[in-house]
Amino acid sequence: MRVVFIGPPGSGKGTQARLLRERLGLICIGTGDILREAVREGTEVGLKAKPFMDSGRLVPDDLVNDLVAERLRRPDAPRDFVLDGYPRNVAQARALDALLVELGLPLHAVVVFDIDDALVIRRLLSRQRADDSEDTVRQRLVAFHQTADDLVRYYQHRQLVHLIRADAPIEHVYVRIASLLLPKDA
Ligand code: AMP
Repeated sequence: MRVVFIGPPGSGKGTQARLLRERLGLICIGTGDILREAVREGTEVGLKAKPFMDSGRLVPDDLVNDLVAERLRRPDAPRDFVLDGYPRNVAQARALDALLVELGLPLHAVVVFDIDDALVIRRLLSRQRADDSEDTVRQRLVAFHQTADDLVRYYQHRQLVHLIRADAPIEHVYVRIASLLLPKDA
């Protein structure tokens, strides 16, 4: 099963990806995590990405597309995965499509996490990450809304989209996602 998660920061994508990994063994590829690691390690990619991340803006598409392509082209790359936080816009979605065609690994589902901005802001300000200051949180939400509608429409045309209410309790959200994924997986 190959799945894309789309949702604003703080909508629970990371939590659900972790549960899918723990319970179903699905590998999660989170571009935010990969980028944060690159920043921590001070790699070239990390140095380029840091100013964008610190201010809550999207890192340039080429950089992120190359990171994901490098991961998925590795000989030991998983054939089934959750992409968390990628693609973020239509240009990235097109790059991902081309990559998945090359690899012969089409997507099965796109899960869209639907949640109010006000709730997301409350959630994010109560967790302590370097890029979780109020200004950055607001900027990340602006960045999300600038591209998310077009991205969801892009996948709606392909009939891949499943909208889920992300303000429900974690276990409810999990059951909903697992029920989308499991019948095809069984
Ligand atoms: P996240 O953990 O997914 O919220 O990502 C944290 C930050 O990493 C974002 O605010 C962006 O600066 C950057 N980032 C993560 N994924 C992407 C992506 N697909 N495209 C561009 N920037 C990204």
